[in-house]
Amino acid sequence: MKKRVTILGSTGSIGTQALEVIDKIENREDFVVEGLACNSNLEKFIPQIKKYNPKRVYISDFEGYKKLKYEFPKLEVLTSNSGLIEVATKDTDLLLTATTGIVALKPTLLAIEKKIDIALANKETLVMAGDVVMQKAKENNVKILPVDSEHSAILQSSNGDFHFIKNIIITASGGPFLNKTHEEIIKAKAQDALKHPNWSMGKKITIDSATLMNKGLEVIEAHHLFNIDYENIKVVIHPESILHSAVETVDGSVIGQLGNPSMHIPIQFALTYPKRIKGVETNSFNFFDKNLTFKKPDLEKFPCLKLAYFAGKKGGIYPCVLNAANEVAVYKFLEGKINIDGIVKTVEKALENTTEIKEPSFDDILNADIETRNFAKKLLG
Ligand code: MG
Repeated sequence: MKKRVTILGSTGSIGTQALEVIDKIENREDFVVEGLACNSNLEKFIPQIKKYNPKRVYISDFEGYKKLKYEFPKLEVLTSNSGLIEVATKDTDLLLTATTGIVALKPTLLAIEKKIDIALANKETLVMAGDVVMQKAKENNVKILPVDSEHSAILQSSNGDFHFIKNIIITASGGPFLNKTHEEIIKAKAQDALKHPNWSMGKKITIDSATLMNKGLEVIEAHHLFNIDYENIKVVIHPESILHSAVETVDGSVIGQLGNPSMHIPIQFALTYPKRIKGVETNSFNFFDKNLTFKKPDLEKFPCLKLAYFAGKKGGIYPCVLNAANEVAVYKFLEGKINIDGIVKTVEKALENTTEIKEPSFDDILNADIETRNFAKKLLG
């Protein structure tokens, strides 16, 4: 049986790497690129359409939409919110959500209702709406397959059976500020934070890695994906990024997944799960290359991780507020308007300002997102 794959965000970093994975996979003929969606990058999108010949494509930008309509008269070209839903939910077996922000949230929920498995490369989906998404996935017997390296490592280490897990160990490189003092971190500019030692990623996630907010968001995702209490999710700083994460089992074993830092493996594992198939050539891991080191995260120096645990444990709309306030503040930091401390303060104030909603609906979540963004923007001027 062929697997029909649709990619939301095909011109982004994960989207392009996913297509590379499909190109190199041993059983290439078993995969059909059914649909592709992008925001506006025609320079990358047009060659993808020519190469993969999808049945339908989506583009957010209206000028781009008109150009594609003209250039590919026989292709189903879609735009607007309803178009994104169409591409996400039609004739697909696996939906890779590799867009940033909340644009894919509703299409993802609707795809789950259509019993389409999700390869998840979007942080907001579980951070904002983890309870709603996992409940829907359970009702529809849909798999949510993580594409993030840490969560993929946990899935690989547990073999998909989470009952025997005592603790989850999420590793973090520690980012570019790991060995900096608090004073140095406060003085840091965007370009200092953008020097990530091991992974090359988008700007937003690179800043989140520098503050450890990225790890905090991953803790919240892990809570939902693996149905595990926050007390049993441990973050370990591991600057070499070789152990991608691990599980500690009830009998005391620690099972982890190691390898050179590469997003190809988590992407491919989500595409072929539960099978392992030969794919993109990677060099065998060299055990004699470097020493592996581990240490405890410094929560005083990196308070964002503490705030994420706080928001996660509170549940409801708190993780959504954490995410929205952080995003607004990170962009202000990238513009040079605030320092790292400003990010922390903005998130703190937004969480303090939050009125609890127990079991929020999807609309409550979207409202909380908008309200928090307005609150943070006002706060930061
Ligand atoms: Mg990660």
